[in-house]
Amino acid sequence: MVSSMGHRVYGRLVPMDDFAPRIRIIDTKLGGRDGITACYLVQGDRVAIVDPGAQTSAQTVRDALTAEGIGPDDLYAIVLTHIHLDHCGGTGDLAAAFPQARVVVHGRGARHLADPERLVTASAAVYGDMADVYGGLAATPEERIDVAPDDHVVDLGGGVALRMLETPGHAFHHMSVLETGSGTLMAGDALGVELARGGLYPSTPPAAIDVAAGRASIARLKGLGAATVGVAHFAAPTAADPFAVADELWGRMGDAALAGFREGGAEGAAARVVADVPMQSAVTGDAARELWEWLGWHRDNLDGLAAWADRHENPPPPK
Ligand SMILES: [Zn+2]
Repeated sequence: MVSSMGHRVYGRLVPMDDFAPRIRIIDTKLGGRDGITACYLVQGDRVAIVDPGAQTSAQTVRDALTAEGIGPDDLYAIVLTHIHLDHCGGTGDLAAAFPQARVVVHGRGARHLADPERLVTASAAVYGDMADVYGGLAATPEERIDVAPDDHVVDLGGGVALRMLETPGHAFHHMSVLETGSGTLMAGDALGVELARGGLYPSTPPAAIDVAAGRASIARLKGLGAATVGVAHFAAPTAADPFAVADELWGRMGDAALAGFREGGAEGAAARVVADVPMQSAVTGDAARELWEWLGWHRDNLDGLAAWADRHENPPPPK
């Protein structure tokens, strides 16, 4: 149907206020389980999704969009917070299913979407036994990709727009997304992960975390004064001030990793993080801990922090 403004209106999408005005969450059901990776569906006069999730979730997301009355030509943009496979793996499949959609991504991520082989190989090395749960990444034709600089805006019309903010830390190319009409922040993994409403805990995987950058990004996001905050894993954090919680934990984990690395290298870094900032102290509830365990993200966190401490203590010689 066509609204009085002449804009296309998408059936049951109006009004859409499940998470925030005009923003709904599609549970991508990673590994067939609930509440791990959120795909944010944002509707102005045009429709975009933020983070389609893993390739193994592409059909789930496609079905959800179809159920919302979004036809093959109705998706305007696929916006990516970063190119880890749990966020971007479905991009190529969804770009093929929705041939009008632009794919919007940080400049350091664009080439990997067009030519995913290296990214998929490197990811498999990190994910190990869990690689099949995520799947791979189908290539997106280069001409479909829009490179987003800092403060890039994807205007969806109807007063709805996605402002993309460079927020390195979890990954050097990470961008958070602010829907400016409603003041809704989709923080990706910049703050951390909160599974099963068990509390926010940083996500610091290999191979490119940066603790100082991560804390600066958290400060930048706090300064936005967003009315609503969502993280990719999963939806709204429970903390009243998720920025303060995230900053404190990032800081303590970075300090522990550096102190431990000076004592005993990578193993020392991991041991100090486990001793000083145990995930169990921040994450409550068996359901949340079981998910962290199943995903292996806690182990990835220790590897990432140890590698960062190594880079911090042994910076490469200037070129
Ligand atoms: Zn993630």
